[in-house]
Amino acid sequence: MLPAPHFIAFNPPRRILMGPGPSDVYPEVLAAQARPTVGHLDPLFVGMMDELKSLIQYAFQTKNEMTMAVSAPGSAGMETCFVNLVEPGEKVIVCRNGVFGDRMRQNVERMGAIAVLVDNEWGTPVDPAAVEAALKAHPDAKFLAFVHAETSTGALSDAKTLCALAKQYGCLSIVDAVTSLGGVELRVDEWGIDAIYSGSQKCLSCVPGLSPVSFSPAAVEKLKNRKTPVQSWFLDQSLVMAYWTSAGGKRSYHHTAPVNALYALHESLRILAAEGLENAWQRHHEMHLVLRAGLEKLGLNFVVAEDYRLPQLNTVYIPAGVDDGAVRTRLLKDYNLEIGAGLGALAGKAWRIGLMGFGARRENVSLCLKALEEVLS
Ligand code: PLP
Repeated sequence: MLPAPHFIAFNPPRRILMGPGPSDVYPEVLAAQARPTVGHLDPLFVGMMDELKSLIQYAFQTKNEMTMAVSAPGSAGMETCFVNLVEPGEKVIVCRNGVFGDRMRQNVERMGAIAVLVDNEWGTPVDPAAVEAALKAHPDAKFLAFVHAETSTGALSDAKTLCALAKQYGCLSIVDAVTSLGGVELRVDEWGIDAIYSGSQKCLSCVPGLSPVSFSPAAVEKLKNRKTPVQSWFLDQSLVMAYWTSAGGKRSYHHTAPVNALYALHESLRILAAEGLENAWQRHHEMHLVLRAGLEKLGLNFVVAEDYRLPQLNTVYIPAGVDDGAVRTRLLKDYNLEIGAGLGALAGKAWRIGLMGFGARRENVSLCLKALEEVLS
């Protein structure tokens, strides 16, 4: 027998989360998660799932039937899109302007498909002209995949134009909206997005660990006409949807849903719908302007040019001679404030300051600016 470990209950302090995610969770969402667990096929719970599906459809602005939440984080949403749609040997144009574009490439290559890379400099958006050149050079490509809001740099790409290009050249679009959903304009049906995934922990201000996903009718058609079975049993949408669709009023067991986490997602999307998507986008923009003015006053320079800057993820260069780790440690210890370190090519060079969901509010902006001013002085 191993001796039983004895610990006290884990009781973290209340931090102010202003990094790249997870973001500050709405108190109502934390309360929703603490409600009594019911069975995952309880009639009351499946009724809530129907509401949840329409809330996700609203957030994505889509009528897609195949809309649900993957019971796992954003990376599993990413994998859901690739593993269901892409077959071995197929060609995918993958846009890479940061860490998450490269994660897409890894997905494509791991499933035996061919990734054609369109590289753009970190901190810049995906260049539609370069994408069009790749689409022309690869008429056999079946997909165009890109990250709408690159969290590793803070750059926003033009999803509407990129999806129109995909359509023009006969490709299905696969879009990463992990950081964009709820924070900037996103219109799945209007822009003709075919497969999209997000994450619960960014601008939805929900607990981490869930990934809203939606497939267009064209994507569903591609899935139905696969020649090979979906290699992942857990992520196979044709199996999962038996649980997420009440066909003839009946849902069947696929896996045990994370019941309480889904209460949390329902609550966070309810809050978003009550505010209204356009109001939420506007609030993120306004808070970004206030933060930007304060950061510039402190002499901090943005990595991303103004035209493509994400309001919800502000990446600034660390001033010369300033100790990155020491600053972030002081912010955490003295102010309970978390900001993000640089990632990948920007590690040690930049900070990422998130204004996501519940975190995109004046008191957070003021605290962050005051704390940075004191720590940097
Ligand atoms: N895509 C983007 C743009 C992200 O920012 C992240 C996480 O930060 C992911 C994918 C992966 O999401 P997760 O960490 O929830 O698996």
